[in-house]
This record gives sequence, structure tokens and C-alpha cells, in this order.
Amino acid sequence: MFDCAIIGTGPAGMEAALTLKNRNKSFILIGPKTSSEKVYKAHEIKNYLGLPNIKGEDFSKAFLNHLDAMNIKITDDKIAQIYDMGDYYALQGKETQYEAKSIIIATGVRMDKPIKGEDELLGNGISYCATCDAMLYKNKDIAVIIDSPDEMDEVNFLSEVVGSIKLFPVFKNELNTEGKIEIINEKPIEFIKEDKKRVVITDSNRYNVDGVFILRKAVPLSYLIYGIELDGSHIKVNRMMETNLRGVFACGDVVGKPYQYIKAAGEGNVAAISVVSYLDELRRMENGN
Ligand SMILES: Cc1cc2nc3c(=O)[nH]c(=O)nc-3n(C[C@H](O)[C@H](O)[C@H](O)COP(=O)(O)OP(=O)(O)OC[C@H]3O[C@@H](n4cnc5c(N)ncnc54)[C@H](O)[C@@H]3O)c2cc1C
Repeated sequence: MFDCAIIGTGPAGMEAALTLKNRNKSFILIGPKTSSEKVYKAHEIKNYLGLPNIKGEDFSKAFLNHLDAMNIKITDDKIAQIYDMGDYYALQGKETQYEAKSIIIATGVRMDKPIKGEDELLGNGISYCATCDAMLYKNKDIAVIIDSPDEMDEVNFLSEVVGSIKLFPVFKNELNTEGKIEIINEKPIEFIKEDKKRVVITDSNRYNVDGVFILRKAVPLSYLIYGIELDGSHIKVNRMMETNLRGVFACGDVVGKPYQYIKAAGEGNVAAISVVSYLDELRRMENGN
């Protein structure tokens, strides 16, 4: 059981981790080990205090070196869902479940829009979580849409359970697959329900399957954690980065514009300080004070 689970390895999540480390709290920092691609892929950054004219790659190295110097490890995983367990939270990773007394959501913003029919069929033939829902499709035929080769470990896991997979990679890399996985290089544009089947409609064909998994780098917020209050497409927070859910904090791009590194890092710091106050309050309540 960690004091806090931080989701996201961009400037917001990493700064939150540094602050919690300084405050001697136990935490887990979850996200890609490489840091956020919005950090290492940036061409040149000119507006971050103390680091003039720095290339994204070097910017990312500076952040990761800072974590290293403070002995902070990144747990390379993607959180599919967070469950409120009453007095703690459980977080579902690809293969592992984590438990923490508090959460910092620093997952950045999602740039892509949902595919037509996706929101309507979510939980009714469409799933975002292979670990949670694979067994519902034991020996059945499914379609899987992925936006990055990083999702292939989840596709391979699904292939151990289901009957067959039609795989729609919506990116350009070549993939090597075998056995039950058929790659279809067409772009899904709509999902519909027809009798007991779900239909994946692309610009040139229709594919009937029993279920659809959509595995993206980012999970939609309302699916990530039930009951979180949103403000448009962002998580609603106050100045202390508190959400409407007790013990859940959010920071960085996920809470709104402007989308800037220094704002994200600053909010990561505030969220972590709020977590410290929250943990103190929990301890006082446990001691009956
Ligand atoms: C090309 C480009 C150039 C930019 N240049 C500048 C600039 O010069 N100056 C500036 O100030 N800003 C710039 N920005 C904006 C800046 O990148 C963002 O404001 C900043 O990265 C936001 O940080 P963040 O930590 O909130 O989110 P992000 O950097 O988006 O990090 C989010 C992290 O969360 C991870 N994540 C998401 N979902 C999950 C999940 N379910 N489980 C685990 N991990 C998850 C992601 O993989 C990622 O690691 C640029 C953006 C881009 C795209």
C-alpha cells in the first residue's frame, strides 16, 4: 500500500514524485519509462526556467537524471482503471494491481477524438482493458484497435484467451504477428451493434465480431475513474489541485490550458503538497484527533 500513486511521467507527474520524495512519502510513479513523448519529441524548448534553448531529448534526459539522482524509479505500466475501495484506491495496470491511499492523475491531454459509436457501446461490446475483460471473450472473435506498437503485449495476451483477433493498427510501423492475429490496414470509422454482433466499419469494409478492444496510450478520464467531475474534456480541480473525489488530485495538461511544461511541473508540486496534507488529515482521523 503506497501513500500515493502518481499516474503519468510528464513534467507534472515527475515533479509530483520529486516533491513526495522530499517529503518522505511512499509512492509509485507509473507511466512510460522514457518519460512523456511530449517532452522528448519537442524540437526545442525556450521557455523553461534555467534550461534555455534545450532540445526535447535533452530536456527529457535532464528530468530522468533528476529522478535517478533522487533514487526515484518509474514503473513502466499503463493504468486502465482506478477503483475506489473505500479507504484506499486500487489501480489496474496491464498485469498488476497497485494500491494507494491517494492518487495524482497527471496523464496529459488526449488529442484524438473517440470513434463514432465508441462512447455508446463502451461496456456493451467495447472495452478499453484487456486484463479486465479478456475472459468475457474466451474463444470468441474480437477486433482490436491499437494506436502504438507498445500495445502489442496486451494484444498478445488477448490472443492467449480469445478465438481470433482482427487487429487494426492505426499507425505506420510494420508489425510482426502470428497465429490468431490478422492485421487489417484499414481505418475504423464507426462501430455499431447488429443482433449479437458488434460491427467494425472501415472506409472500405465491415467486420462482424463478438467484441472490440480499443487500446490507446491514454484512457478516457470518465473511464479511468468513475465519478470524477470534468470541466469539458479536463478534470475539474481547485487551486490545491483537489478533484471532487476524496484523496484524488490532478495536475498538468489534464486539468486545462495553457498547455505548458512549467505550468504542469508547478501544478505537480502543488498536487504533491496537497497529498501530504491529505495524508496528515488521514493520520489524524485514524488517531481520533
Ligand atoms: C511537439 C510539442 C512541443 C511542445 N513545446 C512546448 C514548449 O516549447 N514549451 C512549453 O511550455 N510546452 C510545450 N508543449 C506542451 C507540453 O508538452 C505540455 O504542456 C506538457 O508536456 C504537459 O505535461 P503533463 O505532465 O501534464 O502531461 P504529458 O507531458 O502529456 O505527460 C502525460 C504522461 O502520462 C502518461 N499517461 C497517460 N495516460 C496514462 C495511463 N492511463 N497510465 C499511465 N501513464 C499514462 C503519458 O504516457 C505521459 O507519460 C509542447 C507540446 C508538444 C506536443
